[in-house]
Amino acid sequence: MGAQLIVRTHSNCSRGELQTWVNKAKERSAFEDGHSYSGEWNMCDGDLDFSFSEQKVFASADEAEEFIADHHEKWEPLLAVKAYSSQDMPPKAQSDKLLSDLLKKANDLNLQIAGMSGAVLARVKSGKSKLKACDHCDSRISVSHLHSTRCPVCRTEFLFTETDTKRLQALEVKSKEAKAKYEARLHQILASKPKGQTDRGIVWLVGGWCAS
Ligand SMILES: [Zn+2]
Repeated sequence: MGAQLIVRTHSNCSRGELQTWVNKAKERSAFEDGHSYSGEWNMCDGDLDFSFSEQKVFASADEAEEFIADHHEKWEPLLAVKAYSSQDMPPKAQSDKLLSDLLKKANDLNLQIAGMSGAVLARVKSGKSKLKACDHCDSRISVSHLHSTRCPVCRTEFLFTETDTKRLQALEVKSKEAKAKYEARLHQILASKPKGQTDRGIVWLVGGWCAS
């Protein structure tokens, strides 16, 4: 007996409306897929679990789905969480200078990280030594045959010097920070809404592991 993850998206609405929508879907699957091990929502007991929906709004539907996959237990009530919809980015977010600067910074750092292997390989190839030794498998490899920074015999990263590794780690830390800053700014923009307006760009994600 297994279980499959079923996650569906619904536009922003009240909890009551969402519950009604889910109840109808459960009735339908009980009718179409049966009452036991249907692999559908009707395998999850009780009313929706909204406990996580007040804690945070996920930056994307993918992130929310991942969260549901990690936090839902088979047979338990379905989880309902909120995420920002990527299709419905408010104009405010599109025109925000700080947001686009932060995105550019994060992208630049990712490019630098992606470019490091190529730069190290080029440096080794233009260097004096014709052979490189791999400490991991004791192979000696002719530099002219190298196509990546990994040892062709054991696949261990073997061309990065200690300084290269430190530089890479520093870039990865910076990249993480930049991504977090970008997401914080995005949350800030999306959370500030004019009075009386519904949350723009927010969707519900409902789902869980359904016994099959
Ligand atoms: Zn090796």
